[in-house]
Amino acid sequence: MHIEPRRPTVKNPPEQFAGDVWLDLIVVPSSESQRTVVAKVRFAPGARTAWHSHARGQHLHVTEGVAYFGDRDGNLIEVRPGQTLYTPPGEDHFHAASPDSFMEHIAIVENADDPATTTVWKEHVEDDRLPGAR
Ligand code: MN
Repeated sequence: MHIEPRRPTVKNPPEQFAGDVWLDLIVVPSSESQRTVVAKVRFAPGARTAWHSHARGQHLHVTEGVAYFGDRDGNLIEVRPGQTLYTPPGEDHFHAASPDSFMEHIAIVENADDPATTTVWKEHVEDDRLPGAR
């Protein structure tokens, strides 16, 4: 066994994230038989992802602030620190911080057979979908 190398924090790209969102990879596969990827993701107030889906679903464990997760049916689920949200394979959704506070969550996904297709990115989220717009 060994301590994994520490990877640098990276800023997520504006094509897929609105506002400042920072990513720290915690777990990546160590062998061909592994699929799990775990990341700590930190959102500035009001920051959010674009619409996207995950080939094998995703678990999101909120560790700080107030998180909102929206779907195409107009549901907006508020998630507090200590709670875990699950989004099933192929379901379009977005992640957002509340407008007035940083938000941090741990994201857990299983890679697709082709890791490049693990997450499918789509268009940015309309402002009226976000918390504070209602
Ligand atoms: Mn997601």
